[in-house]
Amino acid sequence: MADYPIHEYDVLVVGAGGAGLRAAIESSANGAKTGVVTKSLLGKAHTVMAEGGMAAAMGNVDDRDNWRVHFADTMRGGQYMNNCRMAELHAQEAPARVKELEAWGAIFDRTKDGKILQRNFGGHRYPRLAHVGDRTGLEMIRTLQDHGIHQGIEFHMEATILTLLKDGERCVGAFGYDRERGRFMIFHAKAVVLATGGIGRAYQITSNSWEYTADGQVLAYHAGAALLDMEFVQFHPTGMVWPPSVKGLLVTEGVRGEGGVLKNKEGKRFMFDDIPENYRSQTADTPEEGWRYVMGDKNARRPPELLTRDHVARCINREVKAGRGSPHGGVFLDIAWIKEKIPNSVEHIKKKLPSMYHQFKQLADLDITQEPMEIGPTTHYVMGGVQVDGDTQMSSVPGLFAAGECAAGLHGANRLGGNSLSDLLVFGKRAGEYAAKFAKQQGAGKIDHAQVDAAAKLALEPFERGPAAENPFAVQHELQESMQKLVGIVRVESEMQQALDIIAKLKSRAAKAGVGGHREYNTGWHTALDLDNLLTISEIVALAGIERQESRGAQFRDDYPEKSAEWAKYNLRISKGADGKPKVERVPVMPLTDELKQVIEEQK
Ligand SMILES: Cc1cc2nc3c(=O)[nH]c(=O)nc-3n(C[C@H](O)[C@H](O)[C@H](O)COP(=O)(O)OP(=O)(O)OC[C@H]3O[C@@H](n4cnc5c(N)ncnc54)[C@H](O)[C@@H]3O)c2cc1C
Repeated sequence: MADYPIHEYDVLVVGAGGAGLRAAIESSANGAKTGVVTKSLLGKAHTVMAEGGMAAAMGNVDDRDNWRVHFADTMRGGQYMNNCRMAELHAQEAPARVKELEAWGAIFDRTKDGKILQRNFGGHRYPRLAHVGDRTGLEMIRTLQDHGIHQGIEFHMEATILTLLKDGERCVGAFGYDRERGRFMIFHAKAVVLATGGIGRAYQITSNSWEYTADGQVLAYHAGAALLDMEFVQFHPTGMVWPPSVKGLLVTEGVRGEGGVLKNKEGKRFMFDDIPENYRSQTADTPEEGWRYVMGDKNARRPPELLTRDHVARCINREVKAGRGSPHGGVFLDIAWIKEKIPNSVEHIKKKLPSMYHQFKQLADLDITQEPMEIGPTTHYVMGGVQVDGDTQMSSVPGLFAAGECAAGLHGANRLGGNSLSDLLVFGKRAGEYAAKFAKQQGAGKIDHAQVDAAAKLALEPFERGPAAENPFAVQHELQESMQKLVGIVRVESEMQQALDIIAKLKSRAAKAGVGGHREYNTGWHTALDLDNLLTISEIVALAGIERQESRGAQFRDDYPEKSAEWAKYNLRISKGADGKPKVERVPVMPLTDELKQVIEEQK
């Protein structure tokens, strides 16, 4: 084996977003020597982009809220595909995690009596999102980072993990390279926590950062761990559609939480036309009642714009397809209208939604305090990911843990807005704690030199093929286009099969991809190395999408438009078969305990 630097840790955390930082803090607090690797600079992970807030049933704005309501909301939103143990732990522990963040220095917006302010969001029965204007992710990352760097954690910035290292069945570290110089490095660890985020860069229109190339999911899959629920990819209803350079950029649900309404080109508030049966009793009958809800009237029910994301995205899709869309292929989201209701609406909007105000002003030359925005669905979040134990976050590979967006379970078939940031805190902490415990119980495993040599050889092959070979950017672009068109918001089997054929061809092209130049900050090389992750995850999403022959949550099948009682019983688990291909299996959904059944009944 070549003489690569070896970094020794008890616990290695891959990812420095909310989940990774929270895991590292807990691991370190439990006495484990902890290292963190991140593709970007510290403070720049995707979590920094989070806007609307983190969901926790603190009851600061409406004292009827408690963990039981939050649990029931999360399960209903996830169409009961959730790992109910995770949904229970999340609802119970989120308030303590938010208060802890405050104790570490996070400065939340405040109620008049000085408590953490909570805002309305889709699918949450009561105002529940602790927030800092529409820059909550920035405050979260800043706070965790400030706290973390004083815990003796070591950080490796701008470094990418390429493969996990195993000793028999157990995960004992990782192999990667630093992006600045292109040098290889080995991490020898007793436990590894994956906290690498999502997969949105497999699609053309996405709110996700460049980091979202499915690395954690595919690292785990190749290492023998199972993935779960990969058919459930969330399309957020409100991304920018104009100008083209920013297509997909997120418009926070906070806009609707503050009273923004959706209209088609005829000026009709179309969300009142289609209210799902299981939400009817919780949804306003009239615009007037919806506005009263936004203003905090406890006797009013939420406006239909605050139904779950899957439903709102499909309603927008329907309007556009029916020719009632906006000039650039979306619909209108109007917050300016609240001037009819409150005298200081301009200041109010600027104060509550400062980033949205600037985003539209600077990127689209549009003043959202005066004019409606044009918006449409954008690929946003993946509910599926690494299958983990709900309490410990350990995957099916001993010593390999996962938390945050790259893990599966909490959100079922559809995530409620705000439930991700609290997920990062609750399960990031748990992953760090149990990884440290695991590390204490285990001796150091052995690094297998053959695994390292094979990974290094594979990583350098694009240079051997050179710049005249297949262009990695072209392969990436064609994949994104195909996933957008064929495995998107509305799916049919024939199109997903077509996507699988395209992916197979793109895989052989990716195996011939080549780059020129040297190893320092070579973006062509980085892209060539991302391709296996993007292609593997795309194949898995399409396979799972084909297998689930029903419409549920984020997966809408035009050829199976109804929910099926039979499919309600199963999650889909995907692992690498003996033939090296993805093996898709139905596994029974985790049964509810009697107590949790009762909670759901009482919240109906
Ligand atoms: C615009 C926007 C707004 C959002 N707003 C909200 C909101 O208001 N509320 C909410 O709950 N959710 C929100 N979300 C979702 C939420 O932000 C994400 O789900 C969450 O931040 C994911 O956090 P994470 O810790 O799992 O991953 P991330 O924050 O993405 O961190 C992943 C880390 O892994 C690193 N990494 C990835 N691959 C590798 C590799 N191979 N080697 C080394 N490092 C690697 C990355 O560099 C990064 O450091 C929003 C999402 C977007 C896009």
